[in-house]
Amino acid sequence: MEKIVSLAKRRGFVFQSSEIYGGLNGCWDYGPLGVEMLNNLKQAWWRSMTFRDNIEGIDAAILMHPKTWEASGHVANFTDPMVDCKQCKARYRVDVLLDELTIKKKKDVLRDLFPGEFEGQQKDETIEAEFAQRLNNDEIIAQAIQKSISCPNCGNKGTFTEARQFNLMFKTYVGPVEDAGAVVYLRPETAQGIFVNFLNVQSASRQKLPFGIAQIGKAFRNEINTKNFLFRTREFEQMEMQYFVKPGEEDKWFDYWRAERMNWFLELGMKQENLQWHKHEKLAHYAKAAFDIEFKFPFGWGEIEGIHSRTDFDLGNHEKFSGKAMRYYDEQTKEKYVPFVIETSVGASRSFMAFLCAAYDEEMVEGGEGAGEMRTVLHLHPKLAPMKAAILPLVNRDGMDEIAQKMTKDLQKHFRVFYDDSGAIGRRYRRQDEVGTPYCFTVDSQTLEDQTVTVRERDSMKQERISIEKVKGYLLERII
Ligand code: ATP
Repeated sequence: MEKIVSLAKRRGFVFQSSEIYGGLNGCWDYGPLGVEMLNNLKQAWWRSMTFRDNIEGIDAAILMHPKTWEASGHVANFTDPMVDCKQCKARYRVDVLLDELTIKKKKDVLRDLFPGEFEGQQKDETIEAEFAQRLNNDEIIAQAIQKSISCPNCGNKGTFTEARQFNLMFKTYVGPVEDAGAVVYLRPETAQGIFVNFLNVQSASRQKLPFGIAQIGKAFRNEINTKNFLFRTREFEQMEMQYFVKPGEEDKWFDYWRAERMNWFLELGMKQENLQWHKHEKLAHYAKAAFDIEFKFPFGWGEIEGIHSRTDFDLGNHEKFSGKAMRYYDEQTKEKYVPFVIETSVGASRSFMAFLCAAYDEEMVEGGEGAGEMRTVLHLHPKLAPMKAAILPLVNRDGMDEIAQKMTKDLQKHFRVFYDDSGAIGRRYRRQDEVGTPYCFTVDSQTLEDQTVTVRERDSMKQERISIEKVKGYLLERII
């Protein structure tokens, strides 16, 4: 992880927010290559969602009427219990504190709480399962925290405060007067902007069920612990799609969207062995089913996307709170009803990090240029790579640089490409490998004779010659 964070900074993918002031916890800035890659990722999602007949896009405001968040349940329920260590002042989210205990510590906790029951040898899986099952109510959790869990920071036991509920929404005020009537929230998810616009979009686009609405945008959560680089931040981007279906058809569409979303990651180059499903056993009261797609990060498995079967909860509640009907008129059955919803919700920033981790590699070069050296390479899918190609004149003379510059100008009408004429050619290739540029086109002395260039492919490092006029087509075929 450290290597990836350091590469991200050095090569301009991600910087700490307001670094010169010591940084702001949980916020990150995307640099020149990072913003390209993030835009490519969002573009890939947008295309896969909206380049079809029945999904429309929107871009709703971040600030919404405060009643939205009462209807959605966020004012009452978007809370995490947290505890402070009285000794060292460290603050923890209770569920994270429990999750991160080692198996040995989980066993100690079970022994403390249930004397005599966990004395012999037990398999790790048994301990995991027992821990999850037994520590499932607030009273038992409170006992564990007071009695048997030590503070991960200072190591003291019995120093935690009682758990307090902490609402994760950022609050601010509209207008000049900071009173209770002026409170608004920075949205903690983009989904509600979709729900409140359900009928606007449906009537404007004349969609019939089933149809979806997609949105990409910023979301804000005042997370208690931010950590693991872009994994848990206070400001992040989400890519969400709500699919509205006829009640009774939700299970079929839930399965459909699970398969679609897993495929999206695979088609963008992730390996199946680094992805897994996590089924939610404890469901929110309105949810019918929920699965996460988890990615194997260097620090362990973590959720990157949630796929949720949400019944008619959201639209139904907006109907109640706003007094406006949120019903769909079904022309076939001549009925009006509140549709059910299947949601796909993926973090742009969190999956950006997953794609970086999946792509990062250090490998020994076997043959050809630089044989026997180690190279760092990002095996990013060409669609995600920040730069699509580098154009390299072998030397800066005999007109090679001019040809390369002209190629660069021509290609820049269509793609982000990079011109580089400094340093030995091998070094230039390495610099591009490190940021995931999939193709390098080199102009050499043969170019002067026959108008061909070499194209070197990043992963295989194989080279072939193609004519300059075929370069644009070559890239189009592989990148769009
Ligand atoms: P977690 O349990 O990790 O806090 P969640 O279950 O609350 O996540 P959802 O509300 O389902 O997450 O949000 C959907 C997606 O939004 C997540 O899969 C993740 O990719 C992204 N996301 C949520 N919270 C954050 C965050 N604090 N920082 C970055 N991405 C986030």
